[in-house]
Parts: sequence; structure tokens; C-alpha cells
Amino acid sequence: MSESKVLVDVNNLKKHFSKGKDIRGRDTAVLKAVDGVSFQIRQGETFGLVGESGSGKSTVGRCLLRLYDYTDGEVFYDGQPLGKLGEKGLKPFRRRIQSIFQDPYSSLNPSLNVLELISEPMRIHGLYPGEERKEAVAELLEKVGLKREHLYRFPHEFSGGQRQRISIARALSVRPEFVVCDEPISALDVSVQAQVVNMLEDLQSEFGLTYLFIAHDLSMVRHISDRIGVMYGGRLVEVAESDELYDNPQHPYTKALLSSIL
Ligand code: ADP
Ligand code: MG
Repeated sequence: MSESKVLVDVNNLKKHFSKGKDIRGRDTAVLKAVDGVSFQIRQGETFGLVGESGSGKSTVGRCLLRLYDYTDGEVFYDGQPLGKLGEKGLKPFRRRIQSIFQDPYSSLNPSLNVLELISEPMRIHGLYPGEERKEAVAELLEKVGLKREHLYRFPHEFSGGQRQRISIARALSVRPEFVVCDEPISALDVSVQAQVVNMLEDLQSEFGLTYLFIAHDLSMVRHISDRIGVMYGGRLVEVAESDELYDNPQHPYTKALLSSIL
């Protein structure tokens, strides 16, 4: 891992939100959701991000997806400063960087069938013309543990775990390099959480993926991550190899976080 290149370089990233404005439209109060965060993710690595609710994990994820402009700092992806790019410049990165969110119920358009859901990103990015596309979707479905017969079914006909499998297939349909997984198993039954994590690991080696894995379930994040960062109040208070973090936590908040689950 240490020899692979740095794919994601988060450099003193800040994302502040306005909490109120005065009569001239100036901010009267700001919420520092992310306040000077730096870390790197190497190609092929899984970087776990943990911390209590509201600590800024999802905001970091959305910044990496460049769903926001940054207040300050920069995210370099494969050497390119995402914060400086306009929509045109971002287009290739909107394919190379994909995401999976917590809630597979609300993230899938209920009026599209599985074939349409998974082929939509392919169409947007001009991958697999015509008949090839349907075959590519069917193959992908099998890779995420679903069946060809499911192509013409709709999201409401699937369980939560199956819907998350559909969102994963959708994310992988455009052959990304990097996937932001924002609590991808938190909404699932405990019995299917491990299945989905194992599948994400299998897909990682098959497709050579790099992951940011956001979680509050610490046991799963330890299992899947090479390194883990701990967020607290918009800051990254500790970064360490997974086992090292668990066996020898340094920051008081990390200690508290670990002791509250053991
Ligand atoms: P986490 O994912 O760790 O629970 P978030 O990144 O979602 O934390 O949120 C961090 C803080 O930023 C929270 O106080 C949240 O309310 C606030 N926040 C997140 N997104 C927005 C937004 N789009 N506008 C305003 N405040 C936001
Ligand atoms: Mg979140």
C-alpha cells in the first residue's frame, strides 16, 4: 500500500455554512462543519472516517464529491485541484469518483426499473453503446449478487440490502476509481451488514477501487479499513492504521469513542 500513489490529497479543507445573515446579506454566524482537515488516501486503500453525528464526516465526503465549493483549502484528486475546476473541468471526475449513501430507499428513483437505474449513469457518461449496455448491466447485477430476472423490476420490489446492492451496481456502472461510501450499511439489518461489507471488499479487489468509508459502526469500519481518521467538531483529531487505532488510541476523544462501544 505504501508504494501506491496518493489518489486523494485533502489539504487544510474547510467548509463553513452560514447560520444567519444581517440586513446587508453578511454572515452573522457561521457553522464550521469542516475546519481545517488534511489527510491522504492512496490508490487501492480504504480510509475509514468515524466520529459522532454532526462531526463533519458527510461534509468531507460531499467535498470530495465536489458537491460543494470549498470555504478554504483544497482537495487534489490524482493531482488535480477539484475546488478550482468548473463543471466542465469536473466532468471526468464526476465519472471517476462515485458515491454510495446510507439510505437506499430514498436514493433510488422509484419510477425507474433496475435496468434504467443502472444504465442511467452509463448513458450520461457515454459508456457502452446500444445493446452492449443491457448486457453490461446484467453482468454487473450478477456481480452484486442479484439476478438477470431483476432487470425489469422496480426499487419497491426489493429488500433494503438488495436496494443497496442496486445502488452499488449503479455507482460501479461507470467504472469509477474512487467511491465515497457514506454509512452504506447503517440503514441495513445487522444480518445483512456483513454481507454488504464483504461484497464491497470483493468488488474493491476485482475493480481496483479506492474507498472513503464513513461509518459510526466501529466494528465494521475496523474490518474494512486500512487506516482510520477520527473526526470531532469539524476536525480530524487522529489518523492511524486500523489496528493501531484500536489497540493504542492516542486522542482522548478516540479513547472515549472506543470505550463507549466495548
Ligand atoms: P456527520 O456526517 O458527521 O453527521 P455532517 O457533515 O452531516 O456530519 O454535518 C456537520 C455539521 O454541518 C452539522 O452541524 C450539520 O448540521 C451541518 N451541515 C451539514 N450540511 C449542511 C448544509 N448543507 N447546510 C448547513 N449546515 C449543514
Ligand atoms: Mg453523515
